[in-house]
Amino acid sequence: MKITLLGCGTSTGVPLIGCQCPVCRSSNPKNRRTRTSILVGHGEKNILVDTATDLYSQCLANHVLRINAVLYTHTHADHIHGIDELRTFNYLQREIIPIFGSEETMEFIRRVFAYIFNVTPIGGGKPLLETNAVEEEFDLFGLKILPLEIMHGSLPIFGYRFIEPGEKPKRFAYLTDCSELPEESKKELQGLDFLILDALRREYHPTHFTVEDATRVIAELRPGRAALTHFDHSIDYDELKGSLPAGIEPAYDGMVVEI
Ligand SMILES: [Zn+2]
Ligand SMILES: [Zn+2]
Ligand SMILES: [Zn+2]
Repeated sequence: MKITLLGCGTSTGVPLIGCQCPVCRSSNPKNRRTRTSILVGHGEKNILVDTATDLYSQCLANHVLRINAVLYTHTHADHIHGIDELRTFNYLQREIIPIFGSEETMEFIRRVFAYIFNVTPIGGGKPLLETNAVEEEFDLFGLKILPLEIMHGSLPIFGYRFIEPGEKPKRFAYLTDCSELPEESKKELQGLDFLILDALRREYHPTHFTVEDATRVIAELRPGRAALTHFDHSIDYDELKGSLPAGIEPAYDGMVVEI
């Protein structure tokens, strides 16, 4: 499995428009963060998690040539607003792209992006997508994918666990936009080779883990390796990297991890 961090920034992106703080003015490319999303490569197939606002620039920056399926975590704007970019992949692949998520997420996307699913021609191109509501583990291109309920403030959303079968199965989980992990979900997160976890900033936030929360959860779950994501502009890459325990690192846009 090849995991590419397409974006690791919170909903505004970093730098923040108009902000003059040290991180927003930093010349370190690792302090430039597009909206949070990952790409999971398995053989010839690429599975995208969320269609972030910056999907267009993320595909160009990371030379993404195929998107064979999309998994949605939830329907906040920063995680879905790049959906129209999928039509380029329909042209390239000459096929409909399946998208997956909870029943509520699929219903929301059908309603909010009605132009995509409306059969009446509207002129201009539009994505060709097939919605799939999921709640249990399913198979996609040989990967086993388990949607896991996680809490984003009071909103239950999906994280995803991926298992690549083999002599020594590879286990990876992606939990963005998370402020609490239900015990049931924690049980499914044992023995991970790699975990990506939300850590918005150091200060308390009602709907996201802080760096301290995330570090504590990682110490409990003990994955082989972990990366933090969904940072705001209070997080300086180098400063955070120097302060984290061994085995935990801050994500940056374009980071690639192969397991
Ligand atoms: Zn700033
Ligand atoms: Zn969110
Ligand atoms: Zn978010």
